[in-house]
Amino acid sequence: MEQKILLTAGPICTSMRVKEAMLRDLGTRDHEYQDMVEQLRNELLQLAHVDADTHSVVFLQGSGTYGVESVLDSSVGKKGKVLILSNGAYGERMEQICIAHGISHQMQSFSKLEALPVEQLESYIKEDSITHVAFIHCETTAGVLNDLEAILKLTHKYHKRSIVDAMSSFGSMEMNLKELDMDFLITSSNKCLHGVPGVAIIYGKQEAFQQCEGNADNLAMDLYKQWAEMEASRGAFRFTSPTHVLLALNEAVKELKEQGGIAVRHDHYVFLQKKIQDTMKELGFEAPVKREEQAPVITTYFIPEWMDFSHFYDWMKERDILLYSGKLPGYHAFRIGNLGDLSVSDIERTLDEIRVYVGEYGPKSGKPSMVEE
Ligand SMILES: *Cc1c(COP(=O)(O)O)cnc(C)c1O
Repeated sequence: MEQKILLTAGPICTSMRVKEAMLRDLGTRDHEYQDMVEQLRNELLQLAHVDADTHSVVFLQGSGTYGVESVLDSSVGKKGKVLILSNGAYGERMEQICIAHGISHQMQSFSKLEALPVEQLESYIKEDSITHVAFIHCETTAGVLNDLEAILKLTHKYHKRSIVDAMSSFGSMEMNLKELDMDFLITSSNKCLHGVPGVAIIYGKQEAFQQCEGNADNLAMDLYKQWAEMEASRGAFRFTSPTHVLLALNEAVKELKEQGGIAVRHDHYVFLQKKIQDTMKELGFEAPVKREEQAPVITTYFIPEWMDFSHFYDWMKERDILLYSGKLPGYHAFRIGNLGDLSVSDIERTLDEIRVYVGEYGPKSGKPSMVEE
């Protein structure tokens, strides 16, 4: 079975040991499984530098979006009003969630190619009617990293609850949730934690989970109920747990620790990304996002005039490398993710193939333009 190189920013490549950890069937209500889940929750708290006195980690079946939807619906509910600070598709998804549930919200959209302009945010955050502020840490749309600390400083100043979608950043850089002091942080198993897709991970203050009681307008994604069950029964899910996904995540977290933890993973990502950035620049690709605002997990490039992206994509795919198409309306762009179980040689092979492609079809190849008009 050939292994593809996924540069798609979720799902991502997983190691053999993570895949092998799934070769077991465990009962969702068996204590062996629940003990593993409970232990994993504690490991995850440690990764975020918090403990169970003040914080909790709740798993929710589904992809990352399920986690975001559960938090917005259960925390903001029908009584609050959330300010969404958006600079990409995932901010827009938060708005769609609010519309679907009839949650009061105020949408503030900013450039998708730049970090949120912190100096402009205060006037929106201080509004009396706003109870919650929601934003994305790494906006995976263009891979822009927002200034988490600065924005949280503002939410604290005005005593607003904070909801941070850190889906594609948690695990890629150290985050001390005690110091950052947000109410909720949402991530998922299949991004920088290097697990398989199937579960959303919701960090929150115990008090913030408590406050969700009675707010959700549905049963399966009621965060209060999910939290209360997990706390009371130590690791139990209310409904069938994605047991294999949790076994994989458990192994992935072990692997992360053995590799040296989040700081080491961060350095590895930065190393891979710099290789990508240096070679792509040399090959004439233009990056629309400033280097210092580009998150360490993904890099966005404009599709050059001469290139037909779908041809490029298929050509790379024939070589078992999956690129990440763009998600930027109004721009011709694509992305290269470097998260997941990727080695230096995986990235070198990718860049060698891109070099061959540019030589074959690029502006100096002498071939007619690939762009179809
Ligand atoms: C991946 C991702 C999500 C979740 O997307 P799913 O398709 O539901 O897994 C949410 N927010 C951000 C910023 C992401 O990168």
